[in-house]
Amino acid sequence: DHKSAQLEITLTSSWPVRQPRPVQTRLAPIEPLITGTRIIDTFFPVAKGGSAIIPGGFGTGKTVIEHSLARWADTDVVVYVGCGERGNEMTEVLEEFPTLEDPRTGAQLMERTVLIANTSNMPVAARVASIYTGITIAEYYRDMGYDVLLLSDSTSRWGEALREISSRLEEMPGEEGFPAYLGARLSEFYERSGRIICMGNLTGTDRRRRSGSVSIVGAISPPGGDFSEPMTQNSMRVVGTFWALEYDLSRRRHFPAISWIRSFSLYNFCDWYTNKVADDWADLTGEAMTLLQREVELLEIVQLVGPDALAEADRAVLTVARMLREDFLQQSAYHQVDRFCTLEKTYWMLKAIMDFYFRTQSALEKQVSLIQITSLPVLSDIARMKELEVKGAEISIKVIMDRVRFSFAELGVD
Ligand code: ADP
Ligand code: MG
Repeated sequence: DHKSAQLEITLTSSWPVRQPRPVQTRLAPIEPLITGTRIIDTFFPVAKGGSAIIPGGFGTGKTVIEHSLARWADTDVVVYVGCGERGNEMTEVLEEFPTLEDPRTGAQLMERTVLIANTSNMPVAARVASIYTGITIAEYYRDMGYDVLLLSDSTSRWGEALREISSRLEEMPGEEGFPAYLGARLSEFYERSGRIICMGNLTGTDRRRRSGSVSIVGAISPPGGDFSEPMTQNSMRVVGTFWALEYDLSRRRHFPAISWIRSFSLYNFCDWYTNKVADDWADLTGEAMTLLQREVELLEIVQLVGPDALAEADRAVLTVARMLREDFLQQSAYHQVDRFCTLEKTYWMLKAIMDFYFRTQSALEKQVSLIQITSLPVLSDIARMKELEVKGAEISIKVIMDRVRFSFAELGVD
């Protein structure tokens, strides 16, 4: 303050939680938030400073995904809002995080985590408060120049609280009894994510511009897993990434149960991946996704006319799509090694499976039968790739790819 001689400075700061904190400039997202979960990092990335939702019925794995994001996502600070869910889930975080190490710094994960505990037995107005407190704390750290990840589990409880409060105020109800302003509240909330240049004096000795970001990931529990309800629909309209959890996948114990057909990501980081990971990243992931989509079509045909109607090449597609599902997309959050996968390991795993597919295609052209290929012992090596230590994964997977090459050479294909 130039005019008055005295300026009071305290160690506290207060801010109305419903009001976004000011920023100097908003920036476009330029890089993905790497999460260590393969299906997310390859097919449906969320931006640093972006937003995502995880809708899914009861028991489809929302909480497990949010916990693994809190653990392994590449971010400086995590704000975890437990909003109206069971208290023992918060206890689990409290007990487990001090024992875990941040893979980037080696420090305790707890040191960079803020927990906001709002359990199901607390009053509904507190749920609304917990969400807003969470985002404001996230902005507070963002303004210091950190990358912050805000996780909230579950935003549906917040929506229910809004519905209850609105009905007690005797407001005109909108769709399914939710207040008419539900969509506006949700977009106000998700719009508080973003990559920004922080406020502050830039004329001091430190002339660099500080930038920070807030990324938001919200879980949604639609009743009966039906995505047409207002919470899912209104949130879907404003976020950049949609991870649809499918009851069918979770029942078959395919975890994470993120549907590769219904999910989407509006962010395009092709250039970033090409620079940071590999030149053929976009081709590889594109081809893999095509295979997975082709599988769905082929399975429909199989259901109608039986598997014998398929050509050998189509059956090869089914075989490799299954490898992609089981050996690449499936990832246990409880496995000591597989719970976290680096981008490098992800890339080499995908590369090995797609390499196997291309060799299979040329083998089939040379009249090798699919049975001969699917009984190759090297298939079990591919299935075990996910258990390989992250350190040195590239070398170990290249060894497996060499073995694939030898196996095909023995079948007379080079
Ligand atoms: P929700 O929060 O959607 O109700 P949870 O996250 O509690 O569901 O998950 C229910 C159960 O599904 C977990 O207890 C776990 O057994 C299983 N599960 C979910 N995700 C995974 C995963 N990534 N790896 C292994 N098991 C999982
Ligand atoms: Mg849950």
